[in-house]
Amino acid sequence: MDRVENPVIKIEDVHFRYDRERVLEDIDLSIPKGAFLGIVGPNGSGKSTLLKLILGLLKVKHGNIELFGIPQHKFKEWDRIGFVSQKANSFNTGFPATVYEVVASGLAKKAGLFRRTSKYRSDVKKAIESVGMSPFANRNIGELSGGQQQRVFIARALVSNPDVLILDEPTVGVDSKNVQNFYDMLEKLNKELGITLVLVTHDVGTISNKVTHVACLNKHLHFHGRTEEFEKLKENQLSSFYGHDVHFLHHDHDHHHHE
Ligand code: ADP
Repeated sequence: MDRVENPVIKIEDVHFRYDRERVLEDIDLSIPKGAFLGIVGPNGSGKSTLLKLILGLLKVKHGNIELFGIPQHKFKEWDRIGFVSQKANSFNTGFPATVYEVVASGLAKKAGLFRRTSKYRSDVKKAIESVGMSPFANRNIGELSGGQQQRVFIARALVSNPDVLILDEPTVGVDSKNVQNFYDMLEKLNKELGITLVLVTHDVGTISNKVTHVACLNKHLHFHGRTEEFEKLKENQLSSFYGHDVHFLHHDHDHHHHE
């Protein structure tokens, strides 16, 4: 990637193993403020492990991670980083909670007296609006489609106003005909609200014209750079990275959607 000034996340020389198995080797990755980064790689390539290291859910034993310029072990402003895990999909949606209540639970740490303020209510409403779910605010989460539920989990992560939002496989459970709309919503969060987005997917085909940067991970970082550079890679380079044929969609960057 180009030399990045003041990256929001900086990963340097990170290696990781669980027991014997080396899972990540020699990872250097700087994520610029305002980027929409897609991290792609086959199943088992270390994507979730890398996210867990960034989020401090796994301990960095070799190498360094900085968040907003602060060494991770000293970092305290975790509200600045929102995370929607894959497990969001297995949230017990039979539980009778409304969209409003699920999103408000993202402020649980700040609850107490704050809960009664109009700022609290307007923050929750704003987060719901930012993912296009305002008309559903009073519906039970269990009545919504997979894609709508995923938007609600994103709103829950956004309600504390993070600068960075990290999403692990967010389109799992999103109906294929709604995937494009879902990406349009993410693009809006990135462009209009200025949130830096880091999105993990095992499917290179979902790298659409939305992301600004791509990182290809398979134990090593095989490529990282701007999307334009990624699209210049030959299909055979990608196939050797994936270990199988990849047919990969080229997108028209000048294409605009009108809704
Ligand atoms: P991805 O998210 O790309 O599918 P993961 O980071 O989940 O990949 O896994 C990378 C490798 O690490 C896999 O071989 C997986 O089996 C292994 N692994 C993941 N979690 C653990 C764990 N808790 N203990 C041991 N090995 C693990």
